[in-house]
Amino acid sequence: MELTVLGCSGSYGAPAGGACSGYLVRAGETLLWLDCGNGSFANLQQHADPAELTAVVITHGHPDHCVDIYGLHVLNKYGLERDCLPVFAPAGVEKQLEGLVGEWTDTFDWMVVGDGDRATIGDVALRFSRTDHPPPTVAVELAHGGKRLVYTSDTGPGWSREAFGPGADLLLSEATYQHDDIRAPIHLSARQAGEMAAAARARHLMLTHLWPTLDPVASVEEGSEAFGRPVVLAAPHLVTHV
Ligand SMILES: [Zn+2]
Repeated sequence: MELTVLGCSGSYGAPAGGACSGYLVRAGETLLWLDCGNGSFANLQQHADPAELTAVVITHGHPDHCVDIYGLHVLNKYGLERDCLPVFAPAGVEKQLEGLVGEWTDTFDWMVVGDGDRATIGDVALRFSRTDHPPPTVAVELAHGGKRLVYTSDTGPGWSREAFGPGADLLLSEATYQHDDIRAPIHLSARQAGEMAAAARARHLMLTHLWPTLDPVASVEEGSEAFGRPVVLAAPHLVTHV
């Protein structure tokens, strides 16, 4: 699997092109857009042709994870004239975003996912787990070719680190805060992300969704100390092989 970071700014866009949460996952013939945060669709087009997308996965209805699907809706409807692209999202997201779009027509084929659900998209097997975050929110495990990528989406410390079993090849974890200044317990600090990854025996840890004003070096140090090994910091256009 190949993971491309399209945006990773926590909660709002960072200066100098810091798009919000969005990732591109390429596995065999399958191309997934995982979260559609503001700014991520522009970056997606630097790495892939949107016409080649197999499906979209939206983890929850907070705008920094979903609003850029509006751009794909317009492109599919008026540019590509493509119908029924599969979109997997928790209950309520389709209706919520309809307020933004006006009317979906049939550009997307919406499928509701929740805790414990599984799906197969092309060459990728997915599992979903409800996280500790106020709107219905799912973490996602993506498996392909014997490798597993786990994306926490947004979560507080109450999410079960055993949700997908131990030993993920890459844990892509939110780390919104630093531990001495946790503003809201609906997100993780870098220390909590490192502790969670160590407990889940993840092989590698990538921190994402950092609050834009934080010193990222301090978050990396905090996360690495808790994980027990160096962590990777997500950055727009970073490409990683899982
Ligand atoms: Zn959120």
